[in-house]
Amino acid sequence: MTRKKPPSRELLDELVAANHILYRQGVVDGFGHVSVRDLRDKGRFLLARSMAPGLVKAGDIVSYDLDGNAPPREKRKAYLERFIHGEIYRARPDVNSVVHSHSPSVVPFGVVSNAPLRPICHMSGFLHPQAPIFEIRDAAGPASDMLIRSQALGVALAKSLGGHAVVLMRGHGSTVVGTSLRQAVFRAIYTEVNAKLQADALRLGSAITFLNAEESAQASAMNDAVVDRPWELWRIAAG
Ligand SMILES: [Zn+2]
Repeated sequence: MTRKKPPSRELLDELVAANHILYRQGVVDGFGHVSVRDLRDKGRFLLARSMAPGLVKAGDIVSYDLDGNAPPREKRKAYLERFIHGEIYRARPDVNSVVHSHSPSVVPFGVVSNAPLRPICHMSGFLHPQAPIFEIRDAAGPASDMLIRSQALGVALAKSLGGHAVVLMRGHGSTVVGTSLRQAVFRAIYTEVNAKLQADALRLGSAITFLNAEESAQASAMNDAVVDRPWELWRIAAG
């Protein structure tokens, strides 16, 4: 096996910032994780060791292969659900960043069949047409701890995600993907915002007008072009 260059300090710092931003913005708490594909070695991704995202430092970042293996010298505990990341990177060559969280406003949309999470405002056109729901019982049977703790479950989750930007995980949380770290963080934050707004709208009435396909595509293109603006604010706010 050829030894590749280690990831750049810049990428590590971006990933540390992403961890802190997601914590400060209420997407992750003591749990949840964010990864970025190592573009110098696309068969690997960077993810913190098992710890609270808000406390991650550059020295906590570990490189994993797509099977979820750390280098042999790495002895620190890994996130049990690292298979979410590896199997999505394997299934989706277009994806370069993955956020898994239990962000609270999103969870209810994963447990009902009559209110799919759909784009309710121009910041969340990426949700179009609606976020699919992963039912872990289909892959793990009726007795599981709900976690994506194996490669097989990671494969099943990636299959539910399909070509979407977000997959809801029934009774657990959600996983959001992006072509870049900043886009994935943006989408994770606005998935939570969209869920709050949609729940508010549902309280007012059930006849909601969501963004259509064209509005979703155009609003997403607009937002993708300015993703650095909120990133700078969120980074400073995260300290
Ligand atoms: Zn989880």
